[in-house]
Amino acid sequence: NQGIGSWPARRARMTPDRIAITYAGRHHTYREFRDRVYRLASRLSVGHGVGRGDRVAFLGANQPALVETFFAAGLLGAVFVPLNTRLAVPELRFILHDAEAALLVLGEERDGDGLPGRHVTAAGYEELIAAGSTEPIDEPVAQDDVCLIMYTSGTTGRPKGAMLTHGNLTWNTVNLLVDVPLAHDEVTLISAPMFHIAALAQTLIPTVLKGGRVILEPSFGVARTFDLIEAERVTVMFGVPSMFAFLAQSPRWAGADLSSLRHLLCGGAPVPEPLIRTYQERGLTFLQGYGMTETSPGALFLAAEHSVAKAGTAGVPCFFSDVRLVAPDGSPAAPGEPGEVYVQGPNVMPGYWRRPEETAKVLSEDGWFRSGDVGVADADGYVRISDRITDVIISGGENVYPAEVESALYEHPGVAECAVIGVPDDRWGEVGKALVVLRPGAAAGADEMLKHLDGRLARYKIPKYLEFVPELPKNAAGKLLKAPLRKLYGG
Ligand code: AMP
Ligand code: MG
Repeated sequence: NQGIGSWPARRARMTPDRIAITYAGRHHTYREFRDRVYRLASRLSVGHGVGRGDRVAFLGANQPALVETFFAAGLLGAVFVPLNTRLAVPELRFILHDAEAALLVLGEERDGDGLPGRHVTAAGYEELIAAGSTEPIDEPVAQDDVCLIMYTSGTTGRPKGAMLTHGNLTWNTVNLLVDVPLAHDEVTLISAPMFHIAALAQTLIPTVLKGGRVILEPSFGVARTFDLIEAERVTVMFGVPSMFAFLAQSPRWAGADLSSLRHLLCGGAPVPEPLIRTYQERGLTFLQGYGMTETSPGALFLAAEHSVAKAGTAGVPCFFSDVRLVAPDGSPAAPGEPGEVYVQGPNVMPGYWRRPEETAKVLSEDGWFRSGDVGVADADGYVRISDRITDVIISGGENVYPAEVESALYEHPGVAECAVIGVPDDRWGEVGKALVVLRPGAAAGADEMLKHLDGRLARYKIPKYLEFVPELPKNAAGKLLKAPLRKLYGG
């Protein structure tokens, strides 16, 4: 078994008595972790018929069941499909149907109301583990087998599943370890959600590889983060920039004992330079990375030793990956000139689940993935991510695709035309702003119109502002022009 599902057993063979997982004050050693993964996998296989290639979905916050289901599915050659807990029920239904999930495992805080297919509740989950066997499982899993399908929304508005293989995630781990010298005794705090690639692939998986300890937190909280850093002597943490900004703005910041921290991984959105300096003043250096779900995620990385000199850039390509910047005419962008970021390497996904056309749009025959982001390299090859070609809004690290929000808005009878743009926000980096042209005679208010989105879209996708406008700018072909909209209403 060359898959990641075998890692808990490999680790238990080396360091059975080290603590693998801490959750809600309880600890599991690597021996216990391996045994629970085996028990679960045996019951998923025998009791639920889960086998090679079958999709096993998980809906819940960070908790041991998420981690165990990920590794147990991998052990069987099955595919783990983590669901974003913030999605509304119709959005979750879409993904569960699209993935044709054989089973949905529910976190302890969730019920499966309104969701299709077979469910395992938290109580049922513990029964599975109790009934399972600790006999080793040795399925022939190959590096090229798909291990994970992670859904990301797209410009078309419908989420699509990025397939990542065992090899993709393994190579991403190697890339990370080249840049971040994780030790065997790391204490890794995971409070960013593992249904996003960064927390799963940049913190959980490498920590397990090294035999460190992960502290799972169901959500991020400022006071709780300081408490845990101090009490557990946390050494590694991943966060999107807004998480680190919340910590620095807290009254706890000045007096907190942060001396245990060794590696602060920050990415998922541009990292503001003042934030870098605030941490620098405390002797804390961000390890900044740029990447995306489709590249497992690491593509560019800024090593600690260059973080000051090259602040504002996302670094150079990871060791085993290549990045090139392509000018609009298809030629290589010269230093100082913007170009679309393309990524190639063993961490690049084989494609989107059952979407050959969408895959062909972003992945060339020779394995170059088009990111949709724009970067500018300096003379030393350090890349600053400067813009996005697609009009995605990144709000608190969550991607919001205007097309998806616009189509939900169009379901309101008063909307004749609408467009959603991103506007700067101190807390979240960006938030959405909807511009709506009302139908003649319609008399809807902005609040009422935003309420209409409740329950249809995840909260974080609902625009913070909604403004009625007389018309939207279009080109001669009638295509909506977002750039002038941003100029007019984006301030
Ligand atoms: P996702 O597909 O959800 O993994 O989000 C990936 C996107 O986040 C990228 O395509 C970028 O637009 C953005 N992103 C990630 N890391 C950075 C970074 N360090 N600087 C700027 N943008 C970033
Ligand atoms: Mg993306």
